[in-house]
Amino acid sequence: MSRFIDISDDFISLFFPRLCMSCGAHLVRGERVICTGCLLTIARTDFHTRRGNTLEQAFWGRCNVERAAAFSVYNRGSRIRTLIHELKYKGKKEIGTMLGDLYGRILSDGGFIEGIDMIVPVPLHPARQRERGYNQSDCIASGISAATGVPARNDIIRRIEMTGSQTKHSRYDRWENVKGLFVVSRPGAVTGKHLLVVDDVVTTGSTMEACVNALHEAGAVRVSIVALAAAQKLTL
Ligand SMILES: [Zn+2]
Repeated sequence: MSRFIDISDDFISLFFPRLCMSCGAHLVRGERVICTGCLLTIARTDFHTRRGNTLEQAFWGRCNVERAAAFSVYNRGSRIRTLIHELKYKGKKEIGTMLGDLYGRILSDGGFIEGIDMIVPVPLHPARQRERGYNQSDCIASGISAATGVPARNDIIRRIEMTGSQTKHSRYDRWENVKGLFVVSRPGAVTGKHLLVVDDVVTTGSTMEACVNALHEAGAVRVSIVALAAAQKLTL
């Protein structure tokens, strides 16, 4: 049976070649979404193996984060930046699920997932999600969930709609607004739990901070966070 599937896959590939979503090269058997060459050029952090890493330190005094890790570093010209751009703006959801699955396996092997009850993707602004049709963090969360067996739920927390004028405020005002940005719709589901919040990129950390605080206020006991990438300044 598996032989039949192999042959039919090859047959389908003749007419619909599977291409790497990063460099466009033909994918070979066993490769999926991104070719091995491109995967190897993604600069990885080892944050999941180090307690007190610089990303965790970035949240000290801001919110109570159990563990924090990012797969890669987000900077100009980095491979992960291009991939995340394709995931967010070009409809390539497979990039999110594939990298989520890969990172989920890395996190599992490093013991990072132990004790985590539920995966919670950071919600998008409702207007942005309507326009995009999907939330890239959902794709990453479902990949991590598939690799780890920890359930992912996107009905736990929601983002409050921001009005147009709120997006134009100064940095300080924006941070003030961000504090009340999330509402936990199902507090009963998070009470006493250890949650893993998932986002595509951690840039300043203020979105994560607001999300973590909202989950703690709703009764979560521990909240850990992961992202596909963290801004370079948070990783030095
Ligand atoms: Zn490639």
